[in-house]
Amino acid sequence: MFYLNKINKKTLIALITGFAIAVSTNNLVYAQSPGFKNISSQALDKTAQFTIAQVYQQLNFDNNYYQNLSEADNFYRQGNLNQAKEIQQRVKPAFNSTETFPSAFDDAGKLDARGQQSWQNINTAIKNDPELPEQVTAQIFEPLQSLIKDNPGFIPGHILLADTHDLYGEEEPALEVIEKASEMYPAREDVLDTKIDLLLLYDQPLEASIAAREFAFNNPNHPNSKAYQEAANQYFAQYKKKLNSKVTTSGILGTIGQVATGNEFGALEIGQVLLAGEKAAGQSFAQNIKAQSQMVNNNEQLKYINDVGQKLAKLMGRDEFDYEFNIIEDPTPNAFALPGGKIFFHTGMLELMDSEAELAGVLAHEIAHSVLSHSYKQIGESALTGTAANLISSVLGNEAGAVSNVGGLLLSQKFSRDKEKQSDILGLRVLDAAGYSADGLYNVMAKLKKVSGGGATLLSSHPASEERMRYLEELIQTNGYNRYGYEGVDAYRQVFPR
Ligand SMILES: [Zn+2]
Repeated sequence: MFYLNKINKKTLIALITGFAIAVSTNNLVYAQSPGFKNISSQALDKTAQFTIAQVYQQLNFDNNYYQNLSEADNFYRQGNLNQAKEIQQRVKPAFNSTETFPSAFDDAGKLDARGQQSWQNINTAIKNDPELPEQVTAQIFEPLQSLIKDNPGFIPGHILLADTHDLYGEEEPALEVIEKASEMYPAREDVLDTKIDLLLLYDQPLEASIAAREFAFNNPNHPNSKAYQEAANQYFAQYKKKLNSKVTTSGILGTIGQVATGNEFGALEIGQVLLAGEKAAGQSFAQNIKAQSQMVNNNEQLKYINDVGQKLAKLMGRDEFDYEFNIIEDPTPNAFALPGGKIFFHTGMLELMDSEAELAGVLAHEIAHSVLSHSYKQIGESALTGTAANLISSVLGNEAGAVSNVGGLLLSQKFSRDKEKQSDILGLRVLDAAGYSADGLYNVMAKLKKVSGGGATLLSSHPASEERMRYLEELIQTNGYNRYGYEGVDAYRQVFPR
């Protein structure tokens, strides 16, 4: 996509927007949900010319569906939860899989005979410390991998595998293994501790901070919840120190700022802003984006989103942010989070949604990105590594100064899969805790999948999406979240009439 050398500003913005579409459809995804009919994949190629409302009409969505949910809401408001649930159970498509994550266990004695034998052999091999890499692979890695594949609930297996990768200097596999374990078992303190240890060891204090914060917010009643929050702050301070020395020793950040804002003072400001922390960075980038975009000033709509958003944000645990919810006039179905709790919705996303539970689902997910410092990390690290500079200069050639929407550009780089899952974990927990139907986000994704035409071009390079949809199902089922809570169909439709 970024191969043009001479390009005017208008085209560039279109390119950036186009990229954002790809990102949003990639992030918000999949699974065949029987409640929706397929639209032809031809529609995909035309997506650019379609408003979402037009595409939405092609969904042939069952009109009675939301009418039924609205009826369920009436019972819900009267306190007749059973009746509300009964209606929802009747009309809501069942999940594709009924799987939950297997229960965690520590006792090797609970493995079957073969597993026990293998566990014993692995531990003996580790003690013997084989010299040749082939031996390490055959005696340790391979049997450990198949052991946890057969017994995903066996936590010591995951931890040993991660630690052993580390022992043999394999940084990336070590992190991958422990990340996977923490996605399945976010409440396991030993998994968390291993993850934090490794991240600190590999000089990733911001990631360690995110991990500690995620655990604290997901397990507010855990006796060490407070301690992990404090640890998160400490690791964050460590990261800032690292950032500080990078900013002062490299010119990279300045260059980006210059390209991005068209003047050197802007460059300086971005460096300072990043150092000033999440709140200040969010404030600054939000101003930048607002100045670049056509903002919607409908007070009723803004108040509604704000009311729901503030309620959810209160359950997330970062009171130091000034949460702010904005709407951009843009037909592409997108929503994104800046650091410090600055959340933006495109009108195209709002048009796609039909209930407060769906709105809350997306809100909770985006707020979680902010709360878990994902957006801050994204902007800070793309700036520091020069990713943004490369991106911008490859598009612009020598026409520096044409891009002013630096926040938008940096955010158009998608979050990694593990960040998406972290936001799903925290977002779903809060969605459920607030009393909304816990499948709000899931349903929006199912719709987005239809809007994007079921996969083809935009999604083909991101095959992980179906997996993510299944992951959401498993999270809801494993945690016993309620799919049949408050939907708020009429409330939403009143503010966002179709
Ligand atoms: Zn996300």
